[in-house]
Amino acid sequence: MDENLMADTADHITLLGVKGGPAIRQGGAMPTSSLLRFGGQTVLIDCGIGVARSAVESGVSLLNIDAIFITHLHSDHLLELGPLLYTAWNTGLGHKVRIYGPDGIEGYWDNFLQAMAFDYAIRLDDEGRPPLRDLVEVTTFGPGEVTDEGDLAVTAFRVEHPPVIDCFALRFEAGGKAIVFSADTCYFPPLAEFAKGADILVHEAMLTAGVDNLVARTPGADRLREHLMASHTPADDAGRIAQSAMVGKLVLNHLVPADDPNFSEADWTAEVSKTWNGPVVIGRDGLVIPIT
Ligand SMILES: [Zn+2]
Ligand SMILES: [Zn+2]
Repeated sequence: MDENLMADTADHITLLGVKGGPAIRQGGAMPTSSLLRFGGQTVLIDCGIGVARSAVESGVSLLNIDAIFITHLHSDHLLELGPLLYTAWNTGLGHKVRIYGPDGIEGYWDNFLQAMAFDYAIRLDDEGRPPLRDLVEVTTFGPGEVTDEGDLAVTAFRVEHPPVIDCFALRFEAGGKAIVFSADTCYFPPLAEFAKGADILVHEAMLTAGVDNLVARTPGADRLREHLMASHTPADDAGRIAQSAMVGKLVLNHLVPADDPNFSEADWTAEVSKTWNGPVVIGRDGLVIPIT
């Protein structure tokens, strides 16, 4: 099936960026963002740098995004939220877009608009655009129900991602189906209950063997190794969550490392297959996963 056709018509996930962490390198994957077409809505989950370009290249107009969910305020999930909305506005945004994020999301948005004050004033007066402020509705969420509008219900579950307290897995439900995104988390067995029976679980994953190499080529990040080991999930443990939750399919994203030529898709598959014997997809930028 033509991927662009699928983007317009059928429920699916598009992995826009699958890299864990905020650095980018030539030819490598981009930081985290995903697009979900589900329950009659087009939503984004996280907005790492590159999200606007990747969404457009996947065949989705920025004018067709209904809502954006931010799992936590780490920059590899947040950095391009403002620029994405600003670019949608400059592209002709005419409807309300809802942003849902943890505590601090309103401050981010206010300060972003403040940073753009010069250009914002010019475009309002000189081009006669409707105020972007009025087109964006920001909602802060915590654990529990996030929204239940239209055919799409969304709930949040706090995961373990120290030192961040407000980091939330998200469960999207529509038409009797469920899609769960883990957000960033260490191996956290209670997540299996939240993800119970989901058709698709998109879980972050780390290849422990790749961490040493990653730390060695990231200058100035002395505590990176400790952060990774305490705050992220080895691929075999992601498999344990999928197995315990009895999901229909496991998708690995937020890959650490995502751009090390020493590791291939086969390495990820070998690791996750130790603990999970169901369908698995190793994420890559632009990959479309149908929701069937
Ligand atoms: Zn991250
Ligand atoms: Zn994070």
